[in-house]
Amino acid sequence: MARYTGAVCRLCRREGQKLFLKGDRCYTDKCAADRRAYPPGQHGQGRVKVSEYGTQLREKQKAKRYYGVLESQFHKYFVEASRRPGKTGENLLSLLETRLDNVVYRLGFAMSRAEARQLVLHGHFTVNGRRVNIPSYLVKPGLVVALSEASRSLDKFKSSIEANSSRKAPEWLSYDANSLSASIVSYPRRTEIDFPVEEQMIIELYSK
Ligand code: SF4
Repeated sequence: MARYTGAVCRLCRREGQKLFLKGDRCYTDKCAADRRAYPPGQHGQGRVKVSEYGTQLREKQKAKRYYGVLESQFHKYFVEASRRPGKTGENLLSLLETRLDNVVYRLGFAMSRAEARQLVLHGHFTVNGRRVNIPSYLVKPGLVVALSEASRSLDKFKSSIEANSSRKAPEWLSYDANSLSASIVSYPRRTEIDFPVEEQMIIELYSK
């Protein structure tokens, strides 16, 4: 499965926004997007006039990078989102949010989506009692995502389990701190997704 392996802080700087791709470091004064708040590269500090296409492209790139998805897979999400009833932009974000790696991140078991992806790949999570090691697995309302029995005693999860007992999961996820599991209540609505992106611009870009 292909994934981006380059420097991640430059992605935030490119989008002019913190995308929280590095976990702990993003909350410290070492954050590159705070320290060098201009695009990377030789001409990063030059003045650039951005076209309408450029603005739409940046919104799409931002969403891809935020969720750690590459172009071909992202486009598949767009096709699926346009097939579903309702607003395509909202459907797109809803699909991205229901990826298993994102759910693990939203539940607080990982500090970043990249870490969540790794944890899922290593088989630490189950869906309805069955081990699932596919980060792009799409959860549906009614399913239950849980930390596997074998992983519960691992040091890696002790601090997140503790923090999760007081942390509030998004409303579309019902987290149970005793069973270390969360059931999917519904598909996330746009108001429940705290990602500042103009999804309509992505749709306009793909609709050209
Ligand atoms: Fe982005 Fe985090 Fe790097 Fe800051 S530290 S630039 S938020 S990945």
